[in-house]
Amino acid sequence: MNLDIHERDVEPILCRTCAACCRVTLSLRDTVSRYRCFLRQIGYEVLPPRTSTSADCCDKRHDARLDMGYCKYLEIGNTPATTAYRCRIYESEEMPQLCTDYNCVSWAKANDTYNEKNATLVKAQEALERLRSNGAVGTVSSSGGREALACPLNQVETTKGAGKWIG
Ligand code: SF4
Ligand code: SF4
Repeated sequence: MNLDIHERDVEPILCRTCAACCRVTLSLRDTVSRYRCFLRQIGYEVLPPRTSTSADCCDKRHDARLDMGYCKYLEIGNTPATTAYRCRIYESEEMPQLCTDYNCVSWAKANDTYNEKNATLVKAQEALERLRSNGAVGTVSSSGGREALACPLNQVETTKGAGKWIG
């Protein structure tokens, strides 16, 4: 997938159909197969996933990731057409500063990970493509300003007429 997502694309209308950064993963260093199998057997999702013919991804020692699922504050609404997300604590005192400051594109560029291996960015790009294909956003961003840098999952309306949360 070609990435062309820009910092300015990270707006409420996009984040409410993406929420990729609200999925929490933990890094595990130098794991052995025995331990990875244990984690899988007690119900955790370990990345890389197991193969179709084995209880683990391989028999080597390597780093792995633990997929903890979505943040407990994320609300997920399904309609026949789409999935919509909402942060229950948006702009409250409980909201983590990291969430307030986060912009997936800025983060990727700052860490030199603006590429197709960045799973979060790819999901954000996919969400952007969905919006483009149904005409909800154009192919060129027109907004700017500080508000586009905050994670805006729970904003209900913007001056650009972003859709409402579908609960
Ligand atoms: S900040 Fe990026 S990854 Fe997070 S919800 Fe918005 S578009 Fe998706
Ligand atoms: S607090 Fe809100 S923005 Fe932050 S990870 Fe949870 S749902 Fe996402």
